[in-house]
Amino acid sequence: METRLVKIERDAPDRETVARAGQILRDGGLVAFPTETVYGLGGDALNPDSSRKIYAAKGRPSDNPLIVHICRWEDIFRIADPVPEAAYQLAEAFWPGPLTMILAKKDCVPRETTGGLDTVAIRFPSDPIALALIEAAGGFVAAPSANASGRPSPTLAQYVLEDLDGRIDMILDGGEVGIGLESTIVDLTGERPTILRPGYVTKEMLEAVLKQVDVDRTILDGNCRLRPKAPGMRYRHYAPKGELTVIEGSPERVMAAVSQKAGAARAQGARVGIIATDETAARYRAQGIADSVKSVGSRADEEAVGRSLYRILREFDDEDVTEIYSESFSRSGFGQAIMNRLLKAAGHRVEQV
Ligand code: AMP
Ligand code: MG
Repeated sequence: METRLVKIERDAPDRETVARAGQILRDGGLVAFPTETVYGLGGDALNPDSSRKIYAAKGRPSDNPLIVHICRWEDIFRIADPVPEAAYQLAEAFWPGPLTMILAKKDCVPRETTGGLDTVAIRFPSDPIALALIEAAGGFVAAPSANASGRPSPTLAQYVLEDLDGRIDMILDGGEVGIGLESTIVDLTGERPTILRPGYVTKEMLEAVLKQVDVDRTILDGNCRLRPKAPGMRYRHYAPKGELTVIEGSPERVMAAVSQKAGAARAQGARVGIIATDETAARYRAQGIADSVKSVGSRADEEAVGRSLYRILREFDDEDVTEIYSESFSRSGFGQAIMNRLLKAAGHRVEQV
């Protein structure tokens, strides 16, 4: 299969391009498209064959359910029942946007899409390209991140092409995404709303709307014996080719420990990478302790860090570093999402200093 890469403007998506992409989805094909979080790999969510194709293209285990993307709030009633009061409140506050809700599914949603579950994950994204495509496709687009399973989620169309060239029909290239980490997932089917995956919409933001929100304990705790409730969080999502270690503590101590460990590893012949910040990158470079020092952005700007993290991990893979040392970030607010992805990439190898 030939994969067509088509450029498209975010602010004024070309109607003909959107119509063509929508028709591919209606015909059971696959189209990757930008959202405000990461690029998604879209298929018709109500067509079991489309969902099977998504799993095959990504090499994703078929018990790992897909998020169904909608482009109108009221479409939630066509695929979920009941829709609890909390869903109305969260939608009012955060939709369209980077929040996914888990609700009980209606029969029209095939089990192929939900990984065999009776529940369905639903998101109403805000990206204009995504919205136009979902509408053109008939309103319900299943879209996991558009990476090959085991790679970081793509923040650029070029990364989708690297992973999925020849396996999907089309890629809509709308440039770099805004957030760079996947959506927050909140389960509304239990006694209390529970965050299954942290994202741009934080626990604090959710608690400003709903009184109390639980957090699945497995999100930041590598030793936790519990099973994560989101099936996808059970998989060792992505492991860089090099061994990644996260160093956690006050910024000065972290910098000293990263320098010391990187220098020692390099002296032993390792090819060393450092995930630094704008505040520290030049100092590591001056020390000559690493083969590659990359800044994820300013420590003061968590949004920049979130946007750069996956790109930097991909770049290290291309450079064949064998050991990577990373600075750490706050475990609260948006930092919780950043640390969740970083610790997962590190297989929870974290050292406190
Ligand atoms: P991705 O599409 O790559 O962002 O991954 C989707 C995430 O949503 C995975 O971690 C899934 O396990 C999770 N998810 C999707 N549907 C459900 C559901 N019905 N219940 C719990 N988790 C879900
Ligand atoms: Mg994914």
